[in-house]
Amino acid sequence: MNIHEYQSKMILKGFGLPVPRGDVAASPPAARTVAERLAAEGVPAFVVKAQIHAGGRGKAGGIRRADTLDAVETIARQLLGHRLVTPQTGPEGKLVRRVLVEEAVSIAAEYYVAVLIDRSLQKPIVIASPAGGMDIEEVAAQRPEAIFREVLWDLDRLHPYQARRLGLRMGLQGPLLAEFGRIVQGLVEAFWRCDAMLVEINPLVRLTDDRWLLLDAKVVLDDNALYRHPDLAALRDVGEEDPLEVEATQARLSYIRLDGDIGCMVNGAGLAMATMDMIQWAGGRPANFLDVGGGASPEQVAQAFRILMADPRVKAVLINIFGGILRCDRLATGIVTAAREVGVRVPMVIRLEGTNVEEGRRILAESGLNFTVAYDMEEAARKVVELAGRQRS
Ligand code: ADP
Ligand code: MG
Repeated sequence: MNIHEYQSKMILKGFGLPVPRGDVAASPPAARTVAERLAAEGVPAFVVKAQIHAGGRGKAGGIRRADTLDAVETIARQLLGHRLVTPQTGPEGKLVRRVLVEEAVSIAAEYYVAVLIDRSLQKPIVIASPAGGMDIEEVAAQRPEAIFREVLWDLDRLHPYQARRLGLRMGLQGPLLAEFGRIVQGLVEAFWRCDAMLVEINPLVRLTDDRWLLLDAKVVLDDNALYRHPDLAALRDVGEEDPLEVEATQARLSYIRLDGDIGCMVNGAGLAMATMDMIQWAGGRPANFLDVGGGASPEQVAQAFRILMADPRVKAVLINIFGGILRCDRLATGIVTAAREVGVRVPMVIRLEGTNVEEGRRILAESGLNFTVAYDMEEAARKVVELAGRQRS
């Protein structure tokens, strides 16, 4: 689960990490009020930051400096209610509903620090780079020697010697080195205690007075662990998420939108992956990953069907079900119910195998629905790719 920068900073502050003074606002007057409060604490200048679930805001005009209270309000008015397009949002951009108003600080140097999972090592790692404030993928491509790693061998902690080694590689010494180490260890603790998948600080800055601040923060939480953190689960902002994905989550379906045009409904994650591979192999591109699960009810199947049909990009649908716990007759009933309700606007290929398959095929055949039957995966993939191609032309 993604959360906003202001929420990430709030969490990290709770772990004793230094973040800029500031607060979030949903309207221009509220933004001004935040700035007034900061001014009363002696803050002379401000930064107004668009809060969307995407980075790259700085270059896109979503991070703006304001030297007066009027400027804060004006900039907030320019950002709020408008869409911000960054390299990470796609061309349609994301609607800005909130801004973070914080103190403008004077930066001496920007660094990059992240804690994340290294899937090949099956361990969390810390990545740090003195090339902060830039797109880290770009740094990795152009100056891989400027990126340093430490592995969390004990999972939940970075040893002091590792933190020190990272700091030395950043070119730090003395008190700056010690404080950098404490910050990195604090980030690791936050990562572990929140069941995060990513804690990324870009940039972590050294100020001209030698203090450290987390100037930007991105925390990604593990959905599968949210049940342990009701306080963190409450940070979910469904307004930022794909509406079809939200609907799928509510129906307890695993659904991820992809960028192709062949809708898939499959039971079991392994079969779903294999089905997507087969579509790709046959020359098509899947519009989604959708696993209705081993024990799906006819209602869940119907809901899955509605979600597929609600995606305007879908040109053809492949339903590939191995009936085990989810028997083929129950599946067929779910499909027929949903198809009658929402209609079938694109060609559909169905491949059923397993428990009660004859009964399932009979229900589909007698439904009067228009669909193509396939008997194995290769045939199913070829047929759906061909049908999607015809729809496109
Ligand atoms: P993004 O990564 O989405 O572009 P950041 O929060 O990293 O957004 O901000 C982009 C840049 O703006 C930072 O690298 C930093 O140079 C500058 N910046 C951000 N917040 C402040 C602040 N409070 N004071 C001064 N400069 C800031
Ligand atoms: Mg950033």
